[in-house]
Amino acid sequence: MTKDGTNSAVTDYDVVVVGAGAGGIFAVHEFKEKGLSVLGLESGSGFGGVWFHNRYPGARVDVESYFYCYVDPKIYSEWKWSERYAAQPEILAYLNFAADKYDVRGNYKFSTRMTGAQWDPSTDSYTIAMSDGKAVTARVLVMATGQLSEARKPSFDGLDDFKGEWVQTSHWPEHPVALKGKRIAVIGTGSSGVQVIPQLAKEAERLYVFQRTANYSVPAQNSPMDEGRYQDIARGVEDVWRELVGTFSGTRNPRGSARAADMSPEEQQQLLQERWEHGGHTMNSVFTDQSSNADANAIVAEFVRDKVRQTVKDPAVAEKLIPTEYPIGSRRLCVDIGYYETYNRDNVTLVNVKADPIERITPHGIKTRDQEFEVDLIVFALGFDAFTGALDQSNIRNEKGEQPTDKWDRGPKTFLGLMTTGFPNLFIVTGPGSPSVLANMILGNMQHVRFIANALTYMKDHGHTRIEPTEEAQTEWTAHVADAASKLLRLGVENYMVHVNKDDQSRTFIPYAGGLDKYVARTNAVEENGYQGFAFA
Ligand code: NAP
Repeated sequence: MTKDGTNSAVTDYDVVVVGAGAGGIFAVHEFKEKGLSVLGLESGSGFGGVWFHNRYPGARVDVESYFYCYVDPKIYSEWKWSERYAAQPEILAYLNFAADKYDVRGNYKFSTRMTGAQWDPSTDSYTIAMSDGKAVTARVLVMATGQLSEARKPSFDGLDDFKGEWVQTSHWPEHPVALKGKRIAVIGTGSSGVQVIPQLAKEAERLYVFQRTANYSVPAQNSPMDEGRYQDIARGVEDVWRELVGTFSGTRNPRGSARAADMSPEEQQQLLQERWEHGGHTMNSVFTDQSSNADANAIVAEFVRDKVRQTVKDPAVAEKLIPTEYPIGSRRLCVDIGYYETYNRDNVTLVNVKADPIERITPHGIKTRDQEFEVDLIVFALGFDAFTGALDQSNIRNEKGEQPTDKWDRGPKTFLGLMTTGFPNLFIVTGPGSPSVLANMILGNMQHVRFIANALTYMKDHGHTRIEPTEEAQTEWTAHVADAASKLLRLGVENYMVHVNKDDQSRTFIPYAGGLDKYVARTNAVEENGYQGFAFA
């Protein structure tokens, strides 16, 4: 029986890993190290996951590259980043470098989608169907599909009749997209829009930005890499790993140590300015109480609003760009390079689609209620069907024919964000109920993969063929996830991290907001106590 599914309808692997992003690469490597046979499946034609598909101009990480990488002595010192916040092409090159160092290339089938997975309780395995028409069986299925991989598709009336070109930031074409001298529209001003807009403005004859909700954005304060700092980290990678998983976000970002009210207005402003100059997500943690206390939050929000007013020359445009309806950090803070400055260019026009809604796409552009904009290219930066999208699309079925998300209609239910009841041997990497998008995702992936690899070794050593969380453990953890977010201002704001129940408007916060440090302490305790909360067979 071959292991690549080429001449047999059914072949056996210990583990099938879906996804060749940062999580999948590390998973295949770690499982192989544990002596397991592994097949990786990836719908794209190469490694990279989110960094493979989101290759839009300006795409860049917003966690410092010193730590947005495998903090692993095996490979850390062999790579050199050029910038503090690496751009997409460099991250893609890095992930390819890592895939080779970790020797996983030969384990992957690329351009191959998992089209379904059926659990068979008589053999304790999944039968996994693939887009090439073949099928394999595996004891364990690991979904390393990311939380932001299923893009929200543009559903504007008239799009089919558009005579120009349209693209999505989330699936930017691999071939070059002509931008020079074009009339371009961008719809969406989240993190992706905020990054792509300054780049498009430099090339376009005219750029129209269609903004529905203004977002807070702060400068990355990008700079060349500090080689000495990188080498220092390289000398003590294992200590740095331990340090990072003991932090709230898996970074060395400074965090506030006092409440806003404990400081004088002058001290507050001085600290805000320091954080602004430091750049990036540090603006989320200037004061210890800014995520839960509206007054503290308002001080940070007003500081950022003032920066927008100082940057954007036309006061009317500045006011349109300034969010006023929700606290700062309650939707994911955008991190930019020259975003607000872009609106000082003569070739850029901001269209507020809340005041003047988009009615339809026409053959030659975009028709809002009051105006018509002729464009050659439309860039959709509309975001993702976050957290559950990839699972919903994967057609994973248990013995009752249910899918993992079937019982999540009132919000995701998982144990540690890793597994959900009713689906033995199915692991989710960085899933709902884990720190996920609230922390450094590469670190989160590594931590999850190591936990799973150890659990699989434990199973092997104990002769178990089935692992599943208990109902009690899942209920307790789901309640704990809700509790950790209960005081957060962001729970009350529409954003992709909040699940809203349509009937009574009650809300569930999807990722675990208690911090990576507390999460890791809990998973370590679970491991040390013989996988307490999991049932084996
Ligand atoms: P997003 O934050 O969900 O933003 C989507 C944007 O599209 C919003 O401005 C949204 O407006 C707009 N939109 C959606 N449907 C629309 C419609 N029908 N008409 C007009 N506007 C519409 O998505 P994203 O920018 O792709 O970012 C998603 C996440 O990916 C980020 O939060 C972050 O976690 C990650 N990301 C990270 C980086 C980075 O590391 N630097 C870069 C990009 C993305 P509303 O706000 O009104 O809904």
